[in-house]
Amino acid sequence: MKYQPVIGLEVHVQLKTDTKIFCGCSTQFGAEPNSQTCPVCLGLPGALPVLNKKVVEFAIKAGLSTNCSITPRSIFARKNYFYPDLPKGYQISQFEDPICQHGWLDIKVEGQEPKKIGITRIHMEEDAGKLVHGELSGSGDGSGVDLNRACTPLLEVVSEPDLRTSDEAVSYLKQLHGIVTWLGICDGNMEEGSFRCDANVSVMPIGSEKLGTRAEIKNVNSFKFVKQAIEYEIQRQIDLIEDGGTVIQETRLFDPNSGKTRSMRSKEEAHDYRYFPDPDLVPLVINQEWVERSRQELPELPDKRQQRFIDELGLPLYDAEVLNGSRVLADYFEAGVAAHGNAKLVANWVMGEITRALNDSGTSIEFSPVTPSQLAELLKLVDKGTISGKIAKTVFDEMWKSGKTPGAIVEEHGLVQVSDCSAIEGIIDEIMAANAGQVEEFRGGKEKVFGFFVGQVMKASKGKANPSVVNELLINKLKG
Ligand code: ADP
Ligand code: MG
Ligand code: ZN
Repeated sequence: MKYQPVIGLEVHVQLKTDTKIFCGCSTQFGAEPNSQTCPVCLGLPGALPVLNKKVVEFAIKAGLSTNCSITPRSIFARKNYFYPDLPKGYQISQFEDPICQHGWLDIKVEGQEPKKIGITRIHMEEDAGKLVHGELSGSGDGSGVDLNRACTPLLEVVSEPDLRTSDEAVSYLKQLHGIVTWLGICDGNMEEGSFRCDANVSVMPIGSEKLGTRAEIKNVNSFKFVKQAIEYEIQRQIDLIEDGGTVIQETRLFDPNSGKTRSMRSKEEAHDYRYFPDPDLVPLVINQEWVERSRQELPELPDKRQQRFIDELGLPLYDAEVLNGSRVLADYFEAGVAAHGNAKLVANWVMGEITRALNDSGTSIEFSPVTPSQLAELLKLVDKGTISGKIAKTVFDEMWKSGKTPGAIVEEHGLVQVSDCSAIEGIIDEIMAANAGQVEEFRGGKEKVFGFFVGQVMKASKGKANPSVVNELLINKLKG
C-alpha cells in the first residue's frame, strides 16, 4: 500500500517587546535569575494582569501579513496545568475566539506550483518560567526556578493539516520566519527558542478521505531538524502500519543526535487543560479603525517586494530572491539603486563583492563599512571610464578597509584607467617585440595566443589599461 503523509505545524513566536505581556517587567534575556519579576509574573495571589498593547499590535500585524481576519472581540483563557515553572497553576492563553483566524500562506517548493497552506488561528499567550538544574540552580545539585521568562509574550501560529512533505513544511516555516522577522516583531533566533515549532505528523492510505492518527513532535528548533524529524516520523509510522501495528496519538520528542523521535506521553496521559475565560482580563475589542491603522503601518512584505524587483527593476527571479533574504539587505540594495540607477549592476555588486566582503569579515549588512551611496560613487567611476571594472574591485577592497572615498583612493594610488592609445600602443610594441615567437604563432592561425597578449598588456599596465582599447589595438597590430 502507498501512503500519504499529512503535516500540520504549531509555531511559537516570541515577540520582541520591551516588557512582558501582562506586567511591566523587562523581557531582556540573560539577566540574574528572578531579577525581572513582580507580583504578576510571580503569580502572587491577588496580583492582576494588565494586557500590553504592543503585544496586540504585533499580533494584528502578524495576522494581516498572513491573510487572517482579525477577531473584533477576542478572549483570554486559562489553560490549567501544574508544573513548577508555572506559579499560577495556569497559563494565560486564548482558546475560543483567538485574535487572528482563517489565514493562509502561499508556499513555493522547487519544481512545484505555488500552494496555499491554511492558517487556522494565531493566538496570544504568555511563556512559562524555566527550571535550572544542578550547579547553576544555586542549590547545590538540586533544581531552581527562574521566572524571568515567565509572562514573556508569545504568538502561537497553528496551520491546517495542509502540508504533505517535509519540504513543504520547511518552506512554510521559512516563509513564516521571514514574515515575523521582516515585521520586526520577533528576533527569529531559533537556537535561543524565539521561533520554535511542534510538528504534527500522520499518514493515511493514498486516496483515503480520513486523516490518520497523528503524533505531535515537540519543540524542534531548526529548519534542518524539522525536516529530519518529519521524515523519520513518516517512515516510522509507515513501518509500524506495514508491520500490522497502529499509530497511537501521542507526543514525541526529536533527538538531534540520533535523528529519531521517541515517545514522551500518550493521549491517555495527556493533560486536560480545563480551559475557561480568564475573569481577570476583559474581552479584547479591536475595532476596524485599529485594524486599518495597522494595515497602513505594515512594511512591504518580502513576497511583494520580490515581485516588484522583477517587474519594476527587471531583475531575474534568482537575484530578487537573494536580495530579499532580509529586509536590511533589500533596503541596502534599493538605496544603491536610488543612488546609481542600474539595478542589475548594483545587484551584481551586492550579491558579489559586498556579500563576499561581509562573509570574509563576519559582518552583517547593517554594519557594512561601504554605504550604498559610496558603492554607487564607485560604480559611476567605472561608468565614466575613469577606472576599469577590474580596478574597481581593488578600489572596493580598499574602501572596505580604510573607509576612504573611491575618488580619494583612485587618486592616491594612481589608478586612473589608461585609455590613451599612444601609451597603450607603446606597451603593445614592447610586448610583441619580446614575444616574437607567439606573434608568429598567432599569424600562423593559432588565435588562442591572443589571450596571452591581452594578459601581458594588462599586467604591464598594472591593470590600468582600458581593456576594450587594448583589444582593439592588439588585433590591429597582431594582424599586422
Ligand atoms: P492540539 O491543540 O491538541 O495540538 P489541534 O486540533 O489544535 O490540536 O491541532 C494541532 C495541529 O495538528 C494543527 O496544526 C493541525 O493542522 C494538526 N493536525 C490535526 N490533525 C492532524 C492529522 N491527522 N495529521 C497531521 N496533522 C494534524
Ligand atoms: Mg498541539
Ligand atoms: Zn512582572
